[in-house]
Amino acid sequence: MGKSSKDKRDIYYRLAKENGYRARSAFKLLQINEHFNIFKDVRNVVDLCAAPGSWSQVLSQQLIKEGDQHPPKIIAVDLQAMAPLPGVIQYQGDITKTSTAEKIISHFQGGLADLVVCDGAPDVTGLHDMDEYIQAQLLLAALNITTHILRTGGTFVAKIFRGKDITLLYAQLKLFFKTVTCSKPRSSRNSSVEAFIVCQDYSPPEGYVPSMVNPMMDLSYSMHLLLTILTLKDEANPLVGPNRMIVPFIACGDLEGFDSDMTYPLPVLPDGSEYQSLEPHQAPIAPPYQTFLDLKRSNFFNKGV
Ligand code: SAM
Repeated sequence: MGKSSKDKRDIYYRLAKENGYRARSAFKLLQINEHFNIFKDVRNVVDLCAAPGSWSQVLSQQLIKEGDQHPPKIIAVDLQAMAPLPGVIQYQGDITKTSTAEKIISHFQGGLADLVVCDGAPDVTGLHDMDEYIQAQLLLAALNITTHILRTGGTFVAKIFRGKDITLLYAQLKLFFKTVTCSKPRSSRNSSVEAFIVCQDYSPPEGYVPSMVNPMMDLSYSMHLLLTILTLKDEANPLVGPNRMIVPFIACGDLEGFDSDMTYPLPVLPDGSEYQSLEPHQAPIAPPYQTFLDLKRSNFFNKGV
């Protein structure tokens, strides 16, 4: 019952398993691409915060053509270990650490990426301002790496939490990209504050020298956010009045397509039999709950310890 009720609740969870994706997130990237055509002419791509790897799967399927002598380079990075994927180079590391950024950058050996995507999400604490702040820091770390490796005209896509500081993030991203759009794929639940910022046409300010010490992560920026969190007032936001920008917002994904907030009945199979719930395509290889499962299997909890 548990499994089938979950399947009914979440159509994209079920579709991910049917289509062999490691996570339902795959549909978010596919729907973003449907609208923004971000995969066009992409040869080098970096997938930041990639585990368990459904975005890398999409990238590998969409970009690598059979028989290609020089297939596109796909680099995936995450804190967590990730099961291998064809054509995907993997690094395990923290994207906020300079050493990880340097590793990614060195991999390009002076070459440049056409696309950088980041679906990074910290472990949420439930304190919305804090979660939003950590998410913003993850985004800025991703942008920091991006400024080192993205070619002029390239694209950067990253997950954000739509909060009161989105105007500040937007203003900062606008310094680097000609077009910045906030988009919400249909596969992303309406109930979630998650959205994706699609930054196109990379054109850094003249004279900008990428540095691991990103001025956007400096004290004044952090202090502003901290002040906002502590006072719970938005007045600390330096973008007020006419300077406060309106972020263009686009819902993407076929409007006739599945709605992630709807409940759908399980389909009856063509031979008339009942739908059988599928196992995840790639189970986590080192989940945090593994120790508990091992103890349970060893009958630890029944030994009266
Ligand atoms: N896009 C992935 C997919 O399609 O399978 C899902 C990504 S999951 C929502 C978020 C990931 O962000 C987690 O795997 C987590 O380990 C990673 N993450 C969070 N903070 C990170 C950091 N500082 N450096 C690297 N990865 C990080």
